[in-house]
Amino acid sequence: MAGLSVEAIEALLGNQKAEWDTVRLNYAKLGLVRERELCVHGSRVLVQCNPERRRSSAAQVDKASIALRPCFLCTENRPVEQRGIVWGDYIVIVNPYPIFAKHFTIPTLRHTAQRIVSRIGDMMRLAGLLEGYTVFYNGPECGASAPDHCHFQAAEHGAMPLEAEIEHSLRQVVAIEGPRGSLSEACIGGRHCYVIDATDVEAGQKLFERLYAALPLHEGQAEPLMNVLCWTTAQQRCITVVIPRSKHRPACYFADGDGRLLISPASVDLGGIVVCSRVEDFERISADDIAAIFTEVCITDTDVARINDMIKNKKTNIF
Ligand SMILES: [Zn+2]
Repeated sequence: MAGLSVEAIEALLGNQKAEWDTVRLNYAKLGLVRERELCVHGSRVLVQCNPERRRSSAAQVDKASIALRPCFLCTENRPVEQRGIVWGDYIVIVNPYPIFAKHFTIPTLRHTAQRIVSRIGDMMRLAGLLEGYTVFYNGPECGASAPDHCHFQAAEHGAMPLEAEIEHSLRQVVAIEGPRGSLSEACIGGRHCYVIDATDVEAGQKLFERLYAALPLHEGQAEPLMNVLCWTTAQQRCITVVIPRSKHRPACYFADGDGRLLISPASVDLGGIVVCSRVEDFERISADDIAAIFTEVCITDTDVARINDMIKNKKTNIF
């Protein structure tokens, strides 16, 4: 599994900009996108106007639509210009429709469904190799535009406001604590998050599994709804933020006329960068609208109390 490093992926990005017009153009355009800063329940949120993301925010992700389209993460369907760096059964490729100045997609080489529990260790190892980056995961019904092909994404750490707010949060309630790590709960800007702070991947994975088992799983769902962000700190701690979800898209996504806001929240949006693919949404969305969207798609206080009970009531020693 050698060959994956920050230097290698940044060289890949440089080369792809040099040899692939779509990438060069879209990364250049990103420097010109308009942004607004809002305060949502005391939390910093950046609103980004990014029409190129329409293909993702408006993606049809129901089973029938997915079955009809060629999978854009499978090797045979990817653009000929796209190169990558293989790591185990994954490949790191440049995201040609970026939200971040350095934005990568990390699909599995094989076409296999988007699932987290068996791959959380890989996610943590990726975050360990790519120090200075945040690796993130959108559940199959929580913003992944390819729910049928397993993938992570990575972007430079610190770009999403939530990352610093998690690191400085004083409102965390510890659910489990041991010598190799802790699992705590924090509500930041109206978003209930679980934070795993571990010394190593094995401990982080065990804490994640404990949380995963306590998250609500509804009928017909492949896994509990969630977004996950993961990074390694300068002190070599593995931080994993799990944002459990109660639903995929808010009601305003489906509304008619003036009530419509085409916002399809995924990790990045809940991380504090709300991406608007329509200019009209970008111009009129307010802090109250975003607060309402966060409340609608995240879990409630009652859910948190139930999850915390389940986590604490399990008597097994995880360390
Ligand atoms: Zn595929």
